[in-house]
Amino acid sequence: MIIKRKKTKVITLGNLKIGGGNPIAVQSMLKSKLEETGKIKEEVKKLVESGCDVIRVAVPEKRSIGYLKSLIEEKVFPVPVVADIQFDWSLAIDCLDLGVDCVRINPGNIGGKDKLAKIAEKARQKKAALRIGVNSGSIDKEIFKRNKGNIVNSMVESVIECVKIFEDCEFYNFKISAKASSVLDTINVYEILSDKLCYPLHLGITEAGPPFRGGIKSAVGLGILLSRGIGDTIRVSLTGRAIDEVKAAYIILGSLNLRKRGVDIISCPTCGRTVVDLKKIVDMVEDLTYNVKKELKVAIMGCIVNGPGEARDADIGIAMGKEKAAIFIKGKVIDRVDRDEMEKRFKEELERMLED
Ligand code: SF4
Repeated sequence: MIIKRKKTKVITLGNLKIGGGNPIAVQSMLKSKLEETGKIKEEVKKLVESGCDVIRVAVPEKRSIGYLKSLIEEKVFPVPVVADIQFDWSLAIDCLDLGVDCVRINPGNIGGKDKLAKIAEKARQKKAALRIGVNSGSIDKEIFKRNKGNIVNSMVESVIECVKIFEDCEFYNFKISAKASSVLDTINVYEILSDKLCYPLHLGITEAGPPFRGGIKSAVGLGILLSRGIGDTIRVSLTGRAIDEVKAAYIILGSLNLRKRGVDIISCPTCGRTVVDLKKIVDMVEDLTYNVKKELKVAIMGCIVNGPGEARDADIGIAMGKEKAAIFIKGKVIDRVDRDEMEKRFKEELERMLED
């Protein structure tokens, strides 16, 4: 099955193009505070290594601006940076003056139409992008009342009202997100927006939760939307490390053949037939490959039921037998090793393959 992506307008964030069939951009948000300069630099470095295309950073107050200014002057962000602004519209203006690539504003709490227009005007002057970021937890009260408390309709109306303000300012370089914590509401809102508008959509399930729960909720919600061709950029929001958000995003995109990066690990779930500590080998492979860019399929299988088939099908694989484990490279057995040396041998072959 090939997913046919819906055509959207192309927008520009720094040197990155989003929408119009460009690769689906992966975004994450820094967990550190702007004043924690050392932590910010470390987080940015790891995010970029793991394939993050766009980095968002919270700018909560006036004193944050000075820290952001220093980071931008030091060229800490090698990828486009998005300043996340809530409540104080003047922070959006300050960030655009600093030269950020994009500002995310939440129309529900920015303080009215004239403020939104001023932000759009400034973004147009600065050739920056904006993100209309409606969130189910902070919908404008009037809009919510008008829609009799219907979250989906309120979110759609909130987005469309903001789009109209931007278009009236002749500003078109923006993307849209409308995230709800309910997966079904999120799907519903994005489907309606995708039918009504041509601007690129940034997908996400807001406040999705800790990595296990949040990863699953995001995979279901984003997976359904992406499989219907909706979505130009994504973020998997997790209560956890930002690099895990990026990793989860690539697994979702890779599962749908929309964008591949790094190592795909095929490992069996283990059962009463498993004769070795398979998880230990899987953990070793995860550690060795977490920031590898090269596309590679690695299979780690616990017995001969499905083991040889899956291992043969991978770029590199190992299948446990009764006495020995067989190591496969590109479909051929290259070695049969005793159990006590199989992890070491497999690691050597994998490292060799990663170096090629
Ligand atoms: S491959 Fe073998 S060990 Fe692994 S789950 Fe299947 S039957 Fe069990």
